[in-house]
Amino acid sequence: MPLSEDILKKYQHAGKIAAEAREKIESLVHEGMPIIDLCEKTEAFIRENGGQPAFPCNVSINEVAAHYTSPPQDEQTIPENSLVKIDIGVHVDGYIADTATTVCFNPEYENLVHTAKYALEKAVEILRPGLSISQFGSTIQKTIKSRGVNPISNLTGHKIGYYMIHAGKSLPNVHRFSMAKIKEGEIYGVEPFVTTADAIGEVTNSVDTHIFRFLRRRSLRDPYAKQLLNYIRKKFRTLPFTERWLQGLLPQDSYDATFSKLLSLKCLMSYPVLVEKSRKAVAQAEHTVLIVKDGCLILT
Ligand code: MN
Ligand code: MN
Repeated sequence: MPLSEDILKKYQHAGKIAAEAREKIESLVHEGMPIIDLCEKTEAFIRENGGQPAFPCNVSINEVAAHYTSPPQDEQTIPENSLVKIDIGVHVDGYIADTATTVCFNPEYENLVHTAKYALEKAVEILRPGLSISQFGSTIQKTIKSRGVNPISNLTGHKIGYYMIHAGKSLPNVHRFSMAKIKEGEIYGVEPFVTTADAIGEVTNSVDTHIFRFLRRRSLRDPYAKQLLNYIRKKFRTLPFTERWLQGLLPQDSYDATFSKLLSLKCLMSYPVLVEKSRKAVAQAEHTVLIVKDGCLILT
């Protein structure tokens, strides 16, 4: 079903902000730059341009494939000779655009970056109503393999919904048996992830977690826990957030214990940082697209 004009405008607006943020940040990022500056500049740009971050700006380096964002007071900087993935989410009234790029400071990894972009172009070329998810995955796998490198088999693109970054359907980057088909009016984040020829080509959870999301309400007696959870639920709804966005809400000496309590009560869930299993470098490219009658439109 085609989208209403009003909703389409919101997706287009979110897409435009996300694309501009990506281009701006690509031109700013450099070796030695504090990662927290990169995150905060991206998020500020989104807000100044009439959107809201749909998730914290992800800056994932080398073998880290996804889900790193700076915690408060992060002291990490962009390492020399690194491969830097920047993943940006914007929403306008709950309509989300999701886009990513890889900036390369190491000539050794250039093929990974080009292959991720090339696979994304291929995806955009083939996406249309009626295409099967199986066909999509095998085409992307072949495209990546044809350049002598590997896809990440357990990271996928995803259907996007209202206040939902992962709205059910996945777009695999390898062959997967599936009866599902692409439909007109659907919005997808399309994101091939590419790693080296000698890599396992899978990601695994690390012990670090810097991104969280609201999971469920509970009756809480602790007034600080109640206050913090209410704030999170109203402000971010079902979208991911960072602790950077909670600074100053509670007295500093109560904050850590309160946040840990909400996690252990499963009022919140966390997204662990994802690393490639054999610790090989990973590149990513992502656009958000709208499926139209005879193909797809890039929104980012
Ligand atoms: Mn993304
Ligand atoms: Mn995505």
